[in-house]
Amino acid sequence: MELVLATNNFDKVREIKKILRGLKIKILTLKDFPPMPEVVENGRTFRANAVKKATVISRKTGRMALADDSGLVVGALKGKPGVRSSRFAGEDCTYADNNRKLLRLMKDMRPGKRKARFTCIVALAGSKGPVKTVTGICKGRISAEIKGTEGFGYDTVFIPEGYGKTFAELGMKTKNRISHRAKALRKVKKVLSKLF
Ligand code: IMP
Repeated sequence: MELVLATNNFDKVREIKKILRGLKIKILTLKDFPPMPEVVENGRTFRANAVKKATVISRKTGRMALADDSGLVVGALKGKPGVRSSRFAGEDCTYADNNRKLLRLMKDMRPGKRKARFTCIVALAGSKGPVKTVTGICKGRISAEIKGTEGFGYDTVFIPEGYGKTFAELGMKTKNRISHRAKALRKVKKVLSKLF
């Protein structure tokens, strides 16, 4: 059985492959196929975007596809950056631009107001079969400054609950145990192992 990972983000591909290791499934990525136009993530929810990506890629490749949509949700910012997490500071912005914007907006917020959570929805779509979605959430808070070097995105400013360091300081090993994506993927791993 083959499963296509419907993402061009190779930080994510690495994380996903690591967690799904052990399944009797051949994991393919978009690099195994002729170039396809990028699926526009214009949904209003993480779920809508994940389902759209998995469905389109499954249809185009003729294989089961797995897509995730994820982002950072900050209560004090009314849920922002949310579905716009990757483009928070503008269309062609970098991870550093996003982090700087977030810290600027939260500059004077006291610790109690800095609560945040990463959310990840993983969708599975078969070429004919129904779509299955699972959710993973990782609660935490936003640090006062950028710290650490590992990971990607908001890892340098996100301190998971129960820890005193950012994901970027804690490193991949710890992150892959407790992250929103890890939680969602562990659920999907169970679904896949029942299917195959
Ligand atoms: P998407 O899921 O590819 O649409 O991207 C979501 C965006 O949310 C990423 O570009 C990051 O900015 C952010 N994000 C999602 N997951 C993580 C994570 O595990 N660490 C840090 N940032 C993340």
